[in-house]
Amino acid sequence: KQSGKNTYRMFDESMDVSMQNRVRMQRLLKDAMQADDQLMLNFQPQIDSQTEQLHGLEVLLRWHCQGEWISPATFIPVAEDSGQIVELGRWVIENTLAQISRWQQKGLSFGRVAINISAVQMANSEVVKDLLDAMKRYDVGSDSIAVEFTESTLMVRSNQLLNNLSRLREAKIAIAIDDFGTGYCSLSYLKELNAQYLKIDKSFIDGIGERYSDECIVTATIAMANGLEMAVVAEGVETEAQVAYLRQHGCETIQGYYYGRPMPAETLESWMQSHAQ
Ligand code: C2E
Ligand code: CA
Ligand code: CA
Ligand code: CA
Repeated sequence: KQSGKNTYRMFDESMDVSMQNRVRMQRLLKDAMQADDQLMLNFQPQIDSQTEQLHGLEVLLRWHCQGEWISPATFIPVAEDSGQIVELGRWVIENTLAQISRWQQKGLSFGRVAINISAVQMANSEVVKDLLDAMKRYDVGSDSIAVEFTESTLMVRSNQLLNNLSRLREAKIAIAIDDFGTGYCSLSYLKELNAQYLKIDKSFIDGIGERYSDECIVTATIAMANGLEMAVVAEGVETEAQVAYLRQHGCETIQGYYYGRPMPAETLESWMQSHAQ
């Protein structure tokens, strides 16, 4: 009900938000962070390809603005530009940890919850400190958390970034490399990063059964990840044929509409019940 393709109308498509819209969006975003009834978290299941049990979740931010849902692909880049991503990211961390803590109190377990962290957050903010503080306050252990970075985020090898990465490793928080294959990380840097998860980008998953070249990229990525002792998560998996292919080729974890869309916490709880049956 709350997402869907035709609901993101107020602003143009992601890449090209005009200057005027950008300024307007930044103003509305500022209100949204104060209002507290416009921002919402959705959670998407990640499924073990062999057992079909829930492996973990990815948390994805949603913004309901003046009656419309605006895609994070549109507003996250704008918030990065203005620096608002730092405050927005804090909101995400705080509310994700609060949700995990509510689930813990109910005795529910969802594996690791993966939080997206963008380049600007990693470069300029106290994001890791915020995360560790929130984990302490909500009494959430590091085995309940993962963080996702894109290759391009990791390419900015600032001291701040490297510092933040080593603090994450010290705290035993799992690191996932997001949208893998769309950036330019060298393989030696990849090894050095010591990440636990590699997420194969949807664009390659789309090619399964369609393009031999994409299938080669998928299988090569799985083989490399195995060699580096990383687990592979396939993103944007929509069809049974894709699931079968990924399972057969040793991809551990599957995320996509085939198993479940990103959904609000309460919906996820009922999804859990029906999925377990
Ligand atoms: P991402 O991290 O690559 O997230 C995966 C995107 O793929 C999500 O889009 C998800 O809803 C979508 N998706 C998952 N499975 C399928 C599928 O089977 N088919 C299709 N067509 N799409 C699928 P979403 O939620 O619109 O988020 C877009 C991007 O916005 C994310 O891409 C991420 O880069 C960014 N984002 C979202 N939430 C946050 C956040 O809290 N913080 C930061 N920094 N970035 C966020
Ligand atoms: Ca992600
Ligand atoms: Ca991704
Ligand atoms: Ca992406």
